[in-house]
Amino acid sequence: MKILTAGIDIGGTRVKLCLFDGNKFFDEKIFEINPEEDFLTGIIEYLNGIEELEGVGFGIPGVIEDGKILKFAPNLPFLFGKNLEKEIKEKLKVKNVYFDNDCHMNAYGEWKLGKAKGLECFIFLTLGTGVGGAVFIEKKLFRGYKNLGAEFGHITVDPEGPVCNCGNRGCLESYASKNGIRNFLFKKKKEGAQHFLTKNPEKVEPEVVYKFAKNGDLLALECFKYIGWALGIALSDFAKVFSPQKFIIGGGIANAFEIFYPYILEEYSQRVPSYLLNIPVEKAELSDKAGMYGACLYAYDRVSEKK
Ligand SMILES: [Zn+2]
Repeated sequence: MKILTAGIDIGGTRVKLCLFDGNKFFDEKIFEINPEEDFLTGIIEYLNGIEELEGVGFGIPGVIEDGKILKFAPNLPFLFGKNLEKEIKEKLKVKNVYFDNDCHMNAYGEWKLGKAKGLECFIFLTLGTGVGGAVFIEKKLFRGYKNLGAEFGHITVDPEGPVCNCGNRGCLESYASKNGIRNFLFKKKKEGAQHFLTKNPEKVEPEVVYKFAKNGDLLALECFKYIGWALGIALSDFAKVFSPQKFIIGGGIANAFEIFYPYILEEYSQRVPSYLLNIPVEKAELSDKAGMYGACLYAYDRVSEKK
């Protein structure tokens, strides 16, 4: 019997949605949203109009306590602090509804279809506006007590580093993300750099820095060196705790993977014992559709288990 599920990837400016029937993904849609206003009503109506829908998976950019309450979601003010079961689940006709962090759903997609296919233990990071993290242990997402764990973006890389929006200083996210890139450019501006990228750091997009770096621009290359340095430190610590089979890096900034990859290795190799030296670090395989595919497949697998 066919099972039909939907996967929904909620981002800061858009929502991606698709359906899955056990064989293929279809009806892929993208909605532009304002994260400060109600963007759910239309999605809920759409889902309630799909006959035979048996499960829905949501990937949401934030920490989801107990799989219900959205905590710490700086990019999603409309849902921040709300109970997702009340806001979403109770309004849906379908009973099997799963909420998880967007990076967890990305990692699930990568585990089912991409570079992490079938692995027992791997670490997945998404480098976007912030840094998302996920770890699979014994083929399962590790969540920590109340689903509050695996927040790899907020581990400390430098105790004296820039203040992060989580309250800590020098988080991995303060370097290896869009916010991190802007931190770097602000620092350079303060030091007196005269450069196109340091005029208005708060408006610079990672893609632009990447273009500069590809053309050999020294400041842009230094920016990616910094990202590689921070990732090298972080991955060396993750290696000692988890001994993963692979590290996989996704998210928009991973487009520049070939530029910062050598700097990851340079830092990493100085910080791990020899038996941890050869853990591969790879760029994620799935595109920006990984989140909605992962959410679809997560719901599909959970519904299948119940049958
Ligand atoms: Zn932080």
